[in-house]
Amino acid sequence: MVAYRHLGSSGLKITEITYGNWLTHGSQVESDTAIECVHTALDLGITSFDTADVYANTAAEEVLGRALAGQRREGLEIFTKVYWPIGPEGPNDVGLSRKHIMEGINGSLRRLGVDYVDLYQAHRYDYATPLEETMQAFADVVRAGKALYIGVSEWTADQIRAGQELAGQMGFRIVSNQPQYSALWRVIEEKVVPASQELGLGQIVWSPMAEGVLSGKYLPGAEPPAGSRATDEKGGKRMIARWMRDEVLTAVQRLRPVAERVGLSMPQLAIAWVLQNPNVSAAIVGASRPEQLVENVKASGVVLEPDVLAAIDAALEGVIERDPALTRSPATRPA
Ligand code: NDP
Repeated sequence: MVAYRHLGSSGLKITEITYGNWLTHGSQVESDTAIECVHTALDLGITSFDTADVYANTAAEEVLGRALAGQRREGLEIFTKVYWPIGPEGPNDVGLSRKHIMEGINGSLRRLGVDYVDLYQAHRYDYATPLEETMQAFADVVRAGKALYIGVSEWTADQIRAGQELAGQMGFRIVSNQPQYSALWRVIEEKVVPASQELGLGQIVWSPMAEGVLSGKYLPGAEPPAGSRATDEKGGKRMIARWMRDEVLTAVQRLRPVAERVGLSMPQLAIAWVLQNPNVSAAIVGASRPEQLVENVKASGVVLEPDVLAAIDAALEGVIERDPALTRSPATRPA
């Protein structure tokens, strides 16, 4: 079964492997497969699920809500997010204004079919709304019982610090940050992780497998396998393109003997790698098929010794991104 970790310094426990439905539910995979994936996740002991209003322009929340219907609510941890434009993308269907947060949480609860979400996250930092307005709206969402905890996503260390100070004044706390983090993308290590440790936030990290690239299934110079994200014309192909360079794919193949040496598959090694960071509360994995989850959950509880971590660094030398300036939100609010 999947192990639990505390979400930052909060009392909430979440499964260290959390299932996320970006790019899949409501878009890449049919609804039946999506629901089967959620049920497989539950069977494997995953109880934490991450979605966002913007995924498949709100359809992903509906699919997750249908898949979780009938489950004991107390046994689930449901996370969603607000910020990116949704619906008809009107001037107020976006950002972290009080209006959009209040309407956003109500829409998410309706689509998910629940009375509250466990974690409500600012999907980016909104430079066009005063931070006080955003944090007051989050405080009120918590006080209304619509979200139990508040988190952020891709906020810089300074933004987290300013947000946490205001949250403290308003009687709540930011408990988590949701950044991209993988053996290939380590930009949070220098600034975001130390600030989060100091302020009590845990990381729930996205694309731990670099969208599937660290699974090793994409070979340099070869066509991507049929049905993979790199062939998904509905959006996946465009998103994963940044990783589909021969120098990256060649370096990733150098991980194969490292994984074999420790008796793990490459997807398991990639997920286990992010879980070695003590500030990580969960790896949010994606899956387009139930079998992938069956394989991926075996990363839970794995300990990678220092020599294995060093071998991973050596294999990926030259293609690891570490620049903290790459943690950023759009400079102006999209609309
Ligand atoms: P991953 O890096 O885990 O990539 C998942 C994809 O890799 C799957 O959909 C599948 O794609 C492929 N895959 C998974 N397991 C295997 C396997 N065992 N063997 C081969 N291929 C495999 O994460 P995602 O990029 O999907 O992101 C995970 C979650 O993170 C999202 O669902 C979302 O909840 C969150 N997220 C948050 C963001 C934010 O801004 N806060 C941004 C992006 C994601 P396929 O089979 O199609 O090739």
